[in-house]
Amino acid sequence: MHPLLKKEGFILDIDGVIGKGETPITEGVNAVKKLKKAGKKLVFVSNNSTRSRSIMINRFRRFGLNVREDEMLLCTFATARYLSREKQGAKIYTTGERGLIEELELAGHKIVEEEAEYLVVGSNRQINYDIITKALRYCLSDVRYVATNPDRIFPSSSGPTPGTGMLVGALYWMTDRMPDVIVGKPSEVIMREALDILGLRADEVAVAGDQIEVDVKAGRNIGAETLLVLSGVTNADNIQKMIQRFGEEPDYILGHLGELI
Ligand SMILES: [Mg+2]
Repeated sequence: MHPLLKKEGFILDIDGVIGKGETPITEGVNAVKKLKKAGKKLVFVSNNSTRSRSIMINRFRRFGLNVREDEMLLCTFATARYLSREKQGAKIYTTGERGLIEELELAGHKIVEEEAEYLVVGSNRQINYDIITKALRYCLSDVRYVATNPDRIFPSSSGPTPGTGMLVGALYWMTDRMPDVIVGKPSEVIMREALDILGLRADEVAVAGDQIEVDVKAGRNIGAETLLVLSGVTNADNIQKMIQRFGEEPDYILGHLGELI
């Protein structure tokens, strides 16, 4: 039995572990079924800032996995939850698209163009000059600035695409201002939310993912044991380079999540 199976809960990354975009990773999907059967508490945590929970739950259903809404912690929802802790019904200007807007509104926040109290920066595949201009002006004011995640590049099935970092980087270059809060991994903000959802302490969970600088670091930031799987961005060919580059070694390494159970 793998030592991590002693843990009561698992914080699992999605892309590179359970699927690659719309394509399931069969071993990962089967492992989730077995973990559930073994009575483990699971929460899926992803830095995806364009999808709402319902969109992702539908994707899981197509993979043959039934997960509950409370097992899905995307940085869209985590951002909405974080903002609710700071302010109920906040007035928000966001660069983000439908999935993010859906979660912010579901949490009772108001999306506004003028007189926002918060600038929320998230990815938008239809980003344009007007949106960036507005974000720039808010960034120059004293509104609180929250970013959904710090990802520089998003690995899509057709190759690398710009992550939310494209906007964070552009705003920084123009204003010298970085976000007041970054919600997504490796930030503690989303990981504390995950522990809160599981109702477990960091030493009672394992954090699994395919990226050292995202998932392993996120686990380290809350003091949880970490598992790196080689079924996504990190693979058998580049792992040594990745460990060297990010100076962080996971507690365990497996080819895919299926080797855990
Ligand atoms: Mg991943």
